[in-house]
Amino acid sequence: MSIKITLPDNSVKEFDAGITTEGVAKAIANSLAKKAVAGKFNAQLIALNQPISEDGALEIITKDSADGLNVLRQTGAFALAAAIKALHPEVKLGQGEATDDGFFYDTDRQEGQLTVDQLPAISDKINALVKANAPIEAVSMSKADAKKAFADEPYKLELIDAAAGDTINGYQLGDFFDFEEAVVLPSLKDLKHFTLLSVAGAYWQGKSSNPMLQRIYATAYFKEADLEADAKQRQEARDRDHRAIGRDLDLFFVDPKAGSGLPYWMPNGATIRRVIERYIIDKELADGYEHVYTPVLANLDLYKTSGHWAHYREDMFPPMDMGDGEMLELRPMNCPSHIQIYNHHIRSYRELPLRIAELGMMHRYEKSGALSGLQRVREMTLNDGHTFVALDQVQDEFKKILRLIMDVYEDFNISDYTFRLSYRDPKNTEKYFDDDEMWTRSQSMLKGAMDDLGLDYYEAEGEAAFYGPKLDIQTKTALGNEETMSTIQLDFMLPERFDLTYVGKDGQEHRPVMIHRGIVGTMERFIAYLTEIYKGAFPTWLAPKQVEIIPVSLDEHLDYAKLIETEMRKAGLRVELDARNEKMGYKIREAQTQKIPYTVVVGEKEVNSAAVSVRRYGESEAEEMPANMFVDSVKAEIKNYSRD
Ligand code: ATP
Ligand code: ZN
Repeated sequence: MSIKITLPDNSVKEFDAGITTEGVAKAIANSLAKKAVAGKFNAQLIALNQPISEDGALEIITKDSADGLNVLRQTGAFALAAAIKALHPEVKLGQGEATDDGFFYDTDRQEGQLTVDQLPAISDKINALVKANAPIEAVSMSKADAKKAFADEPYKLELIDAAAGDTINGYQLGDFFDFEEAVVLPSLKDLKHFTLLSVAGAYWQGKSSNPMLQRIYATAYFKEADLEADAKQRQEARDRDHRAIGRDLDLFFVDPKAGSGLPYWMPNGATIRRVIERYIIDKELADGYEHVYTPVLANLDLYKTSGHWAHYREDMFPPMDMGDGEMLELRPMNCPSHIQIYNHHIRSYRELPLRIAELGMMHRYEKSGALSGLQRVREMTLNDGHTFVALDQVQDEFKKILRLIMDVYEDFNISDYTFRLSYRDPKNTEKYFDDDEMWTRSQSMLKGAMDDLGLDYYEAEGEAAFYGPKLDIQTKTALGNEETMSTIQLDFMLPERFDLTYVGKDGQEHRPVMIHRGIVGTMERFIAYLTEIYKGAFPTWLAPKQVEIIPVSLDEHLDYAKLIETEMRKAGLRVELDARNEKMGYKIREAQTQKIPYTVVVGEKEVNSAAVSVRRYGESEAEEMPANMFVDSVKAEIKNYSRD
């Protein structure tokens, strides 16, 4: 009997029933057969050697496609399980599968879990299986037979019970059998370029009420060069990981015993933060903001009035019942606090725009699984500000805030960002604060302002806040993820809810518009971002220590070293003198590891000529210059925010 196979170019070819994808590929071209790894028959992925017995459309999946890579990695997971069982028959297998960037398999061992120490032997075993090049055969069996075959595998038994239908499909390699629906290669011969990466705990089926298994992570590629590029990228991610850098440079720590998501800032991290805080406060004062301090705790009623209690409760810490009828709440946002400041006096149109700013500490009950270093925490300090304006001042104030943001970005040398104007969803207007005219008007005000400033932006319908449209400034993290750094949000709702007013020129009460704005976001996330961007090598103006002084000989040059240390400290530099009884080379290397911008070595020559020998971080050559000239040049660099 013959069947008709329709190929992607719509040509139709006839074959004997029982032909495989491999057979079809060979009939077309040998070069295609070499690249083929699976088929897609009527849009369903099938194994390369699975017989086809009816008419249908066939696409040949090749090594250079995403589907092809997925099949290789699915095969990798299968081989990983086979190797583990061969070496450690007592291990109970969970599940394994391909992911977007590799594959994994979950394992459980009563006698002690597998660790990274076992990975090299497992890797060798996989290589041996690849070399043996035995066929991988598709096998089907009844549920009853599968249960017999997996009598010793509790997790597999659970999966068999949960499976739909009465047939269990899987693959056999030698005496190893695993069931899985996913498609794998007909043999392991293409599994040449793989790496076993790491081991980490993972709850069985992702449920925290289930036992914790050990997940072995790995990746594989068809080409060695791709595997190498992947390794390089993983290394890069590790090099930039702000948690690791934070540990190495002693910037901060989080101790779950003292509270998950509650960071402790060590002197080095605190210094970076203090420099940024002072910088931003000065910048805002110069731009007409008034800085305030407001409490992190407030009566719960405040958050009932603001709507946070109704709409944001799951991100808030539970209220504290003080026992005398008062309920206190840790604030999740600072807006209601700044509204208190506004409302404390009767306001006149002459005071507007009124700009209230604060480095406001706030608390959010983030899920424990989402917490990450300083990037996502439960206690954070936001560079927050709220401007209260008359409606006809919105556009100018918006532009002013935007100019401030761009000015700050320039000082931090942040140039990779995009603007997103976020509107309400016109098809879903009931989801938003109900005032059509306000939306139309304010959205066109924002757009007009962007156009006036000649800035490129994209418009996103449905991304607005409930209470008004906004502009988000999206930056790229060092690892390529998009993140909202700054935001300017118009708010017509809170002024209503808190009944905010000002006395106009006409002597009547009017409603102000509130603009929420953040320039650098939270100190926590911003410093995590900077740490990754700079790989821990902070520019001089931000570096926790700016200059390390190392005397060539403690006996002969320590006095001079102390003298210039005092001079530098007087000049405002963050300087450290390494007077430990260690070798000079060791001290220099350590200053490099700590990524201190300037290492200054002083010996006989320097003492005699009031000079210093200066080495910049990352450079191999030292430069000799008069000590006072060095101090002046570092001071100038700091003043200029280390820009070239
Ligand atoms: P996300 O979507 O990341 O949870 P969000 O949209 O809730 O943030 P906003 O309410 O706009 O954030 O918060 C203002 C600023 O606070 C943003 O700059 C954001 O980056 C930062 N931020 C929010 N949540 C956290 C957190 N858990 N840890 C550190 N910074 C945070
Ligand atoms: Zn706000």
